Amino acid sequence: MESLTVESIDTVIVDIPTVRPHRFSTLSIDHQSHVIARLRTAQGVEGIGEAVVPGGPWWGGESVESIKVMIDTYLAPTVVGQEVTRVERILAGMDRVAARNSYAKACVEMALYDAWGRAWGVPVHQLLGGLYRDAIPVTWALGAEDAAEVTAEAEELLAAGRHQSFKLKMGAAAPKQDVERVLAVARALGESASIRVDLNTAWDELTAQRWLPVLEDGGIDLIEQPVPGWNLAAMARLSQRLTIPVMADESLRSTHDAVEICSGNAADVLSVKVHKLGGLAAVRKVAAIAEAAGVPCHGGTSIETSVGTAAAAHVYCADPGVSYGSEIFGPLLLADDIVEEPLSYAGGELAVPRGAGLGVQLDLAKLAKFQRE
Ligand code: MN
Repeated sequence: MESLTVESIDTVIVDIPTVRPHRFSTLSIDHQSHVIARLRTAQGVEGIGEAVVPGGPWWGGESVESIKVMIDTYLAPTVVGQEVTRVERILAGMDRVAARNSYAKACVEMALYDAWGRAWGVPVHQLLGGLYRDAIPVTWALGAEDAAEVTAEAEELLAAGRHQSFKLKMGAAAPKQDVERVLAVARALGESASIRVDLNTAWDELTAQRWLPVLEDGGIDLIEQPVPGWNLAAMARLSQRLTIPVMADESLRSTHDAVEICSGNAADVLSVKVHKLGGLAAVRKVAAIAEAAGVPCHGGTSIETSVGTAAAAHVYCADPGVSYGSEIFGPLLLADDIVEEPLSYAGGELAVPRGAGLGVQLDLAKLAKFQRE
């Protein structure tokens, strides 16, 4: 086997418009920014990594600008000269030079796995234990428009067989109007679709106590992160009170958080994400903790291009614990992509790519087109 020493890592920032505005509780985005890392080995094998923060630094503290500096100045020098196959050792080395910065580290780790898979001629899921499932269901994120418009979008997707479950963001409006809008969509769609809501930490416990039972009675199937991430006690009380699942997202940023949530019964489902947890290896560790505690994991997104979404598909399809479906719709929300053949979705599912490495090829013309000056 050839030696696979890392020779260089280069990064660029790209800005890609979205097909329509995407709203979070704190802001609305009309484009998404991504860091693309290109790792090259001494033998000329290239590995691609992507880092993306959903909408900006509000979610996790990192930004694409800080990620680029972190990789260029601090992480890349610890990786150059090492073997791409020694992923855990390289992760430990990055932890020694920089605390946290999980998005930047996940980007580098993704490039390592891609280069490793390409060099060996195997898809990344083969490096993660092989496929447990061939495809994963994908929930679609509905927009922030009024109930009638959102319902029309969902009905069109349902009729086309493109998605069966939908996630609505909440928290941007006052609770009463917010709940009324969501319930109007749920009433209109009836039994034909599953509706989940994500509060992105917008409510305090008293507001959640008042309004979550109304959402439950209105037919909502899942509540994601209603209260601040640190408030595991409130998450536990709300999970106990509701018969529908409460999912932890902002509460879960590390393996240690997974242990605390599972031992404290602070959520019914865990949202794993490649970037917030610090990479594919970290997703597997969190999924193993959750599986041991009898808690299913949902495959989350940070709204990646086909590069980061492919990485997520490999680990979510390799890991038995990611049994609660996914929301890896990034390429569908972006108006364009940076790979030659974007991932293809069918029947509400994404099939895992089968090519070597991540299984996607960078389109250099697209990369140049969207690259920030
Ligand atoms: Mn979320």
